[in-house]
Amino acid sequence: MTNPRPKVGIFGLTGCAGVQLQILNCEDRLLRLAQRLEIVDWVMAKSVNDHTCRLDVAFIEGVVASERDLETLKEVRARAPTLVALGTCAVWGGLPAMHNEIPREVLEREVYHQETSFLDTVEARPATHFVPFEFTLPGCPIEREEFLKLVNALLLGTRPELPTVPVCWECTTRGNLCRVVYFEEVCCGSMTRGGCGARCPSHGVACAGCRGPVEEPNFDANITMFADRGISWVEIAKKMRNFSAPVWMTLGLEKEVQRGRER
Ligand code: SF4
Ligand code: SF4
Repeated sequence: MTNPRPKVGIFGLTGCAGVQLQILNCEDRLLRLAQRLEIVDWVMAKSVNDHTCRLDVAFIEGVVASERDLETLKEVRARAPTLVALGTCAVWGGLPAMHNEIPREVLEREVYHQETSFLDTVEARPATHFVPFEFTLPGCPIEREEFLKLVNALLLGTRPELPTVPVCWECTTRGNLCRVVYFEEVCCGSMTRGGCGARCPSHGVACAGCRGPVEEPNFDANITMFADRGISWVEIAKKMRNFSAPVWMTLGLEKEVQRGRER
């Protein structure tokens, strides 16, 4: 970025706002960051905002689950030459995209128990599905250290060096007992992008895949490995599709598990 104090906007689409909270949780480091950045548009943290000015960089979290989300996303894209998707919802669809196979009307009725024509919801999809992004940072929520690294790299005009290894790599370096081998659980560590320090297996819980898939995840081999341990197809499907449901569905794994159920 050429501007010595770049103008920044932080925006949320549909989601739990956990990523924005995580940025606020940077606390003292956020204050230092605020001296180097001019945060001009961040509704969650500031009462006075400029909603139209040109930005140097925009961060956005959440999924597109309504027409309004899509408008916001396009407006933000038009305002900033550098757009960063923060969090697994924005990058992969996350939990809100888990049940896209169920018609919206059915989901809406389940939640509201009344006429829902006033809602403008659409099938939940990751922000990355609609517009190009210069950078993506997954996580549910994001890791603070990774976010600060990313911002520093942007300030320096370089690319951030973020982990590309799977969670399994971090898990084995910590000497954890493998949840698959020793406990016969569905653990998504080998398919999931590391960076969390294998937080869950280090606390005796299988990885749920919240950081989204690594490059070239071997879903098929993992499904076979879990099924060989006698884990039911329903259980495998339930655990594996949590956070990256759109990837799962794109790859046709839903059908494969269905076929397995019928065998
Ligand atoms: S517990 Fe999970 S993350 Fe750790 S090595 Fe086993 S499969 Fe990988
Ligand atoms: S171990 Fe898996 S589920 Fe737990 S924080 Fe890391 S990526 Fe997310």
